[in-house]
Amino acid sequence: MTFEALGLHTSVLKALTEAGYTKPTSVQAQAVPAALEGRDLMVSSQTGSGKTAAFMLPALHKFALASEQQDAPLGKTPNQEAQSARSRGDRPRFKAAQPKMLVLTPTRELALQVTNATDKYGSFMKRVKAVSILGGMPYPKQMQLLAKNPEILVATPGRLIDHMESGKIDFSQLEILVLDEADRMLDMGFIDDIEKIVDATPETRQTMLFSATLDGVVGNMAKRITKNPLVIQIAGSATKHENISQRVHFVDDLSHKNRLLDHLLRDETMDQAVVFTATKRDADTIADRLNIAGFAAAALHGDMHQGARNRTLDGMRRGQVRVLVATDVAARGIDVPAITHVFNYDLPKFPEDYVHRIGRTGRAGRNGVAVSLVNHAESMNVKRIERFTKQLIPVDVIEGFEPKRSASTARSSAKPGGWKPGDNRGNAAKPGQRTFSKPAAPRKEGGGFNKGPRTGDTGGARRSYGDR
Ligand code: ADP
Ligand code: MG
Repeated sequence: MTFEALGLHTSVLKALTEAGYTKPTSVQAQAVPAALEGRDLMVSSQTGSGKTAAFMLPALHKFALASEQQDAPLGKTPNQEAQSARSRGDRPRFKAAQPKMLVLTPTRELALQVTNATDKYGSFMKRVKAVSILGGMPYPKQMQLLAKNPEILVATPGRLIDHMESGKIDFSQLEILVLDEADRMLDMGFIDDIEKIVDATPETRQTMLFSATLDGVVGNMAKRITKNPLVIQIAGSATKHENISQRVHFVDDLSHKNRLLDHLLRDETMDQAVVFTATKRDADTIADRLNIAGFAAAALHGDMHQGARNRTLDGMRRGQVRVLVATDVAARGIDVPAITHVFNYDLPKFPEDYVHRIGRTGRAGRNGVAVSLVNHAESMNVKRIERFTKQLIPVDVIEGFEPKRSASTARSSAKPGGWKPGDNRGNAAKPGQRTFSKPAAPRKEGGGFNKGPRTGDTGGARRSYGDR
């Protein structure tokens, strides 16, 4: 299968050659033909599998064709509309933007990434313009962007609603609606915003929804907003991530954890790394500490201004930042191919975050390493992650960094740590379900691992939470 065989417009093909893409990924091979036919899509496929191009290439193809036929427009263009509005005597002070395509994403970073990818895939097209409408961006700047009447809007739901309500955006000409990382948007509490936005778009639109899972709430929403969709499921949320080598290191305390992290960051095979922390404050503290230790480190979290976040990400892309210390939401969707290592300095609060975290490495078919630094008291949380991913994570020990305590003795003296009892949502591992009497020995695949159905780890109960 080649991109040519998909029948994409030559300007799109040219951009793909320029980008170094030789053949479509499997999600692209399945989604692009259906999208070109104008079909609605419901897609679940693992991070890094190339979903952006799966929805953007067919859209750009369509816009490229339309711009070729522009000499003979069928309907009135927004400018003609405005002219006739003026001749009728009603002069709108601000002409609402009338985008043809809207991409909704959960976070600012992801929105910027989709916009950048669109610029890349559309670089040989004359007219196509994509702009991001994001929370945290100054309003005047956004008004300027909207005044250009961009064809493609990439937006986070909250800020978009603001502009819709103040009459700055008119979706009556919308042809394509994309929900990227739809499950995540629901997790972040955007369901009402999404419904409102969808309701403001024409029934005739083409709708494409992308999600890690199509189960539960997100699946129901997907069915509601799509018409006769083609359902593409490349892999479930419990995707194997076979190109990512995962392991757990048990640590005794914070100082042990810090020493081990420093050691691991000096690994010669490491190009760039993301270190995940539970809190924004930890992200700052650890980034500072790593800088003092001589690593080119930078923090990324939701308390930083958008400008600072962009600069940090640019630094990461240019390789000036080697170690990014980030919180979950801030790091979501980061796509830097040179990220070889992901470290869980703190375990994620929810097992599905683990999957998203490790998906920051091993992008576009490369190999990656994901290391979790775990207190003995947190071993039940490792188990929850294993149950969610349906994979065992081997325990590893490095000479000179052996944990002093074994998990079984540690448990009785364990402090509650970052994992509050309520977080288990009725799924706490029973005491004694697993012991690590010999932490040095990696567990064998399949040994006693519960492959049964999940018991509510990720089920229907959706929650709303901010950047942590
Ligand atoms: P997803 O949204 O599924 O997580 P992305 O769309 O962000 O994945 O793509 C992940 C990476 O793969 C990006 O760096 C992108 O440039 C690259 N990529 C996408 N499609 C291809 C392809 N057909 N060939 C090579 N690289 C690709
Ligand atoms: Mg994506």
